[in-house]
Amino acid sequence: MRIASVIDISLVDVPKIPVTVIFTGGCNMDCRYCQNAEIIPLDSGTEMTIPDIVEKVRGNLSDGYCITGGEPTIHKDLPLLLQALKDDGASHINLNTQGSVPDVLERCLPFLDSVWFDMKSVPERYSEITRVQSDPWPRVEKSITMLIDSDVSFWPRTTYVGGLMNSGEIQGIADSLYKLGFQGEYLVQNYKKSAGTRENEVSTFHEPDRSELDQLLETIPSGISLKFDWR
Ligand code: SF4
Repeated sequence: MRIASVIDISLVDVPKIPVTVIFTGGCNMDCRYCQNAEIIPLDSGTEMTIPDIVEKVRGNLSDGYCITGGEPTIHKDLPLLLQALKDDGASHINLNTQGSVPDVLERCLPFLDSVWFDMKSVPERYSEITRVQSDPWPRVEKSITMLIDSDVSFWPRTTYVGGLMNSGEIQGIADSLYKLGFQGEYLVQNYKKSAGTRENEVSTFHEPDRSELDQLLETIPSGISLKFDWR
């Protein structure tokens, strides 16, 4: 598996749990606003064996792991890494995914405690936003259903990008989650330009104003609570 980098300890990636963050290299999408654009190429990072990864991350003062990327599920041996981390004593394993590889995600489920699930847009805009020709939505939908039906904590979230999305799309995503049976918290965070974005891709985007979304608090489907994380 290709590993791009490791953060020894993070207090912000999983609520109330200090975790070691493992960034895998490579992604099968190409969102214009990506904050980790340098690790989108499939040959980014360094190829490492599972024992070498476990050895590298062992001994940090964390209570678990957050596996992110890139897109971790493009790596077929991801379930083996998660199993090795559990066997090594991890008390919590969180995965960040956009859900486009449900067969790998399914094999990961026995070792996962929680999943941050990136909801990119409404179903009709998935190909456009992610710049993937073969529509990813049917696979994403399968992953969402699988997670809702599992014992793993499912935490959907969307990065709201000014100049790319509008408030109606956040409503549409919440409606899609509701139709798939989701009940719980749906997190919307603001896009922020950062050192990891590509200047030529984000020139027409801006950091959005939270007040654009306030009206949604009245119209969100029952059983779903909208939470804002404006950084
Ligand atoms: S899915 Fe995530 S890692 Fe991949 S391009 Fe989009 S924002 Fe970047």
